[in-house]
Amino acid sequence: MIQTDLSSFSYKKGSLLPICKRCSAENFYRNGKNKQGIQRYLCKECGFRFVWTSDLPRRNYFSRVISFAVEIYTSPRMCASLRGVVIILKKAFGVVVSHQTIRQWVKDTKKPILRREDQASTVWHADETYIKIKGRGHWLWIVRCRQTGHVLSWRISKGRFFEDAKRLMQDALHVAGTRPKKIITDGLYQYAAAIYKAMGWNWKEHKERHIVDSGIGKNWFIERLNREVKRRVKWFSTFQSLEGAHAFFGLWFYHHNTQ
Ligand SMILES: [Zn+2]
Repeated sequence: MIQTDLSSFSYKKGSLLPICKRCSAENFYRNGKNKQGIQRYLCKECGFRFVWTSDLPRRNYFSRVISFAVEIYTSPRMCASLRGVVIILKKAFGVVVSHQTIRQWVKDTKKPILRREDQASTVWHADETYIKIKGRGHWLWIVRCRQTGHVLSWRISKGRFFEDAKRLMQDALHVAGTRPKKIITDGLYQYAAAIYKAMGWNWKEHKERHIVDSGIGKNWFIERLNREVKRRVKWFSTFQSLEGAHAFFGLWFYHHNTQ
């Protein structure tokens, strides 16, 4: 199934209220129009000026349009060609894009998270957010580096099992290249064993390396990211497929890390 809530793609509906692309604030001054006659906004919080043609930096389309196009192209049940997706976007939403642009979107949403230089003196935060795919609950796992703010790894799973936590940690280690000094989690018990397995840390000697921080609001760093993710996806009350959710988050985290 594909996303069928057509109104959520309309550029003019109030559901697409601007969010500052730099600081995520929601209060603006109207600040004239650009050369194409598109409304420009000035952020009241940080003074950043931008046009609201996309919720992503350096894009001219909203993330949900891009992830929708990627979803119908990559879904095995749809069998849509790149040119087929062009026609669907035009007919359904009045959005005109070339098939080369859609090919680039497909590539972009599958880009791996970039490996960063020295991450030796870092603190990682790991957490899970509840999302719905076809009405069924799933978990979005995220590991983020406190110093750089980058998402090191993420995955979507049906449950919260040891195997998921282990793969999440292995992926983060692969991207970072080195083990962090500390990992802060929300206390999900699978993490301790998963971190031991992935990092090879001896827990009896180095318990301080893994800090359980289950107090609400204490893990402020990841909570803020979760709020941001929820805000970005709230118009999808539910994702219509796992492909769609992967396309959306792949795109979103890629942009988050390259901002
Ligand atoms: Zn701002």
